[in-house]
Amino acid sequence: MVTLGIESSAHTFGVGVVDHGKFLSNKKDMYKISDRGMIPRKVADHHSEVSYAVIKGALADAGISIRDIDSIGYTKGPGIGPCLRIGELAAKTLANNLHIPVYPVNHAIAHIEAAKHLSRFRDPLALYVSGGNSQILGTVALPFKHYTVYGETFDIGIGNMLDNFARAAQLNPAWGSSVAKLAKGGKYIGMPYNVKGMDFTFTGLLTNAIKLLDKANHKDVAFSLQETAFSMLSEATERALMLTSKKELIACGGVAQSIRLAEMLKGMAYMHKVKFYVAPNEYNADNGAMIALVAEKMHMSGIKIKDAECNVLQRYRADSVNITW
Ligand code: MG
Repeated sequence: MVTLGIESSAHTFGVGVVDHGKFLSNKKDMYKISDRGMIPRKVADHHSEVSYAVIKGALADAGISIRDIDSIGYTKGPGIGPCLRIGELAAKTLANNLHIPVYPVNHAIAHIEAAKHLSRFRDPLALYVSGGNSQILGTVALPFKHYTVYGETFDIGIGNMLDNFARAAQLNPAWGSSVAKLAKGGKYIGMPYNVKGMDFTFTGLLTNAIKLLDKANHKDVAFSLQETAFSMLSEATERALMLTSKKELIACGGVAQSIRLAEMLKGMAYMHKVKFYVAPNEYNADNGAMIALVAEKMHMSGIKIKDAECNVLQRYRADSVNITW
C-alpha cells in the first residue's frame, strides 16, 4: 500500500511517499519569497515549473516507480487558490492515468496527523500555528468524528504576523526565524496582550510593534513581540487543556519550528503533567509526506470520494472534515 502526497498550498511544492505509515521520501522545492511577500500567480508558476522534478525526486528517493503507487493525495486547502490548483491538477492527472483513487486532504489536519503519528500519542490536543493559521484543536466524537476548534485567531495567523514584522524591520529573509534571531538577548517592553478565552488576535500587537521600531531598540521590540505572542498562545492552549482534560499536547505547523514557543509550551505542559511533543522541522514545514500519510489513512478507511469533492477550497476548515480513520 504505497501513497504519494502532493502539497502546494503556499510557498512549498512538496511530494512525499508513505507505505503503511512509514515515510519513504519527502521532497520539496520552495518559492523564494521577495520583500513583497507572496504573489499568488508567481508562486503558482513556480509550483508548475518544479512539479515534474519534485515528483520524480520523491519517487527516486523512495526507490519506487510511478506504477507502484496505489493512491494519491493532494492538499485541497486551506491555502492560496492558484497554488492549490497546481497540486490538484498534478494529482488528478496522475490518478486518472494510473487508474487509482485520489484523496483531497485538509492541510491543517495533515500537520496534526503527522505530529500525532510521530509522537505515537493517542488523543492529543493540538496547537496548529503557521503563516495563515493559528488554532487549538482536538478530536470529538459527536455529531461526527472531527477536529473541533477550541480556540483560534480572530484576525491573522501568527506566522504572517511575524513575517509582516520582519518585513517592517527590514530583516532578510523576512521570516519568523529572523525575528527569533534578532530577539536573542533583547529586553522586555510592555505590549498589547489580546486573549479572549481560548481565542486571540494579533493585529493590535503587530501595529504596536511596528510603531515601536521608530523609537526603541529593534532587538527589544523583536524579543517583546515574540514573548507576548507566544505567551498568548500558551495561555489559550493551557485553558483548552484544562477544559478538555487531555493528557497529551502537540505543537505543529510552520511556527512550531520556533524553539522559544516549544520551550514555553513544554514548561506549561510539564506543570500539568501533560506530555508534550513537537515534530522535527521537516514535518512542521509544509511537506508532501504529511499529505500522503492522511491520504493513506483515508484510503485504508474505505471512504469513497465523489468527483465533486475533488476540488480546492481556499478556506477549507479542519472542523468540517469527517475523520473516517
Ligand atoms: Mg503548513
